[in-house]
Amino acid sequence: MTLRLLLGDQLNPLHPWFRSPDPLVRYVLMEVRTEATYVRHHIQKIAAFFQAMRSFARWLEEHGHAVTYLPLDDEDNLQDIPANCVRLLKQFGCTHFEYQLPDEWRLDEQLRALAERLEADGIHTHSADTGHFLTTRQEVAGLFAGKKTWLMETFYRYMRKRLGILMEPDGQTPLENRWNFDAENRRKMPPDLHLPAHHTPVHQVQSICRMIRDAGIETIGDIDPERFTWPANRAESLALLRDFIEHKLPQFGVWQDAMTDRDDLLFHSRLSFSLNTKMISPIEVVRAAEDAWKANPDGIPLSSAEGFVRQIIGWREYMRGIYWAHMPHYASLNHFQHLEKLPDWYWTGHTRMRCLQHSIEQSLRTAYAHHIQRLMITGNFALLLGVHPDAVDQWYLGIYADAIEWVEITNTRGMSQYADGGIVATKPYTSSANYIHKMSNYCSSCSYQKDKKYGEGACPFNSLYWHFHHRHRHLLENNPRIGMVYKTWDRMQDDERQRILEQAEAYINTVDQC
Ligand code: FAD
Ligand code: SF4
Repeated sequence: MTLRLLLGDQLNPLHPWFRSPDPLVRYVLMEVRTEATYVRHHIQKIAAFFQAMRSFARWLEEHGHAVTYLPLDDEDNLQDIPANCVRLLKQFGCTHFEYQLPDEWRLDEQLRALAERLEADGIHTHSADTGHFLTTRQEVAGLFAGKKTWLMETFYRYMRKRLGILMEPDGQTPLENRWNFDAENRRKMPPDLHLPAHHTPVHQVQSICRMIRDAGIETIGDIDPERFTWPANRAESLALLRDFIEHKLPQFGVWQDAMTDRDDLLFHSRLSFSLNTKMISPIEVVRAAEDAWKANPDGIPLSSAEGFVRQIIGWREYMRGIYWAHMPHYASLNHFQHLEKLPDWYWTGHTRMRCLQHSIEQSLRTAYAHHIQRLMITGNFALLLGVHPDAVDQWYLGIYADAIEWVEITNTRGMSQYADGGIVATKPYTSSANYIHKMSNYCSSCSYQKDKKYGEGACPFNSLYWHFHHRHRHLLENNPRIGMVYKTWDRMQDDERQRILEQAEAYINTVDQC
């Protein structure tokens, strides 16, 4: 008899394991305390995982597979993955244990140790590929072996060619002879732009919420258990994909960097939870976008299709490769030696800065924020302030439903905080109010003044931006992409610079009141 473990992010019904039921195989899925508490998660994140896992277990049973599902409140649940596996192996008299390779370092280590222990006890163990990703764990590292810089763009072009996505028939030339339409994809949204309605499933998760509360698990954020909108299964994930392709893809590119407090999702797909739990696969998502473009090239600009494909076969796979190339060391990197704590209002949204107030309030309400809110609002502010990357990581890992360490830490510590010293990003993603005003409608309803650097009501981003570059000059001024910043700084009068630095320090010292 074989026991096969399925983790909460391994919910892919198309995996070869499930082709036909085998009477000698039993699957196990488990809700455990260790996973629900390794960071303080958003209540919607835990509920979304448990809901999808339960739905997957039902699907397995309906298709004739033998399944043991351990709910969090099961009295036999030992609340720890290896301990439960050992117990179930004994209970079912198993001689074999199999698992799919985890995507997180932490679980990989745990399961490797478990497998070694079991082998020593005479249980045969085997780990299988999840079949989800388009690259192997080590492919990015292999591609850049011996190279000083690991540019995402280089990897992305390699992937476009390898997969033949949006390529000319020669397989080497990108369509329209352009790899990248980023320059066309950075427009501010006009106030009267019609925004699409969002298709979402609606579920009832009262009993899951009650169980989490009764178990005393500390969570963050809000939930409406009678109107829970995270997808529970593959069918619902495919419906999200269809809705995106039909109603949002045509305008995805042009507004992908825009921010507005009129809406939470804009033209984004909200597919990250479905992708990260493997309910849908990256290849079917990008093929759907490519097919839609081929079928309607006049209705869907190539810049939109390319912009979307880039996120998935480019950034997503690249981040995974960075993760496996640099963990566990990556989790301790702190290039700027930042030590500040995260302001208290990251947990409440109670700040007078409209951009942060909206992005945090939305994240607490929905367990979702789109990329530019994460990068250029919450991430940007934490970086300028000098928050310890551990604290930033914990916040991002907890608050978003799609947050799984391989993709969270590379985006947070790498792309957003530049704590890896430039492995992921060629320069820190920082901005003053200038960029935020250009890309959003936040500044027009803010208590602070976007054009002021110091004095009453000055926007904190402005002085903190200069303070950050000033204090890290020795680490940044030789970066060719940053040179202009220091030229502008040096051109300012001494007393102007002094007032900016004093203003920034005042904000740093009273940040909880900002
Ligand atoms: P869309 O804008 O519709 O994009 C489509 C898909 O592309 C996404 O679903 C996602 O799978 C992929 N994608 C886009 N950008 C990235 C990226 N930079 N890295 C990897 N995949 C990407 N994404 C996560 O899935 N989990 C995280 O924990 C996470 N943490 C982040 C933390 C920070 C600080 C930043 C800046 C970004 C983070 N991202 C994370 C990447 C990105 O913000 C989300 O994938 C995206 O916002 C999810 O919303 P969506 O599905 O509507 O994306
Ligand atoms: Fe944010 Fe400054 Fe604009 Fe206010 S003025 S919304 S704090 S960038």
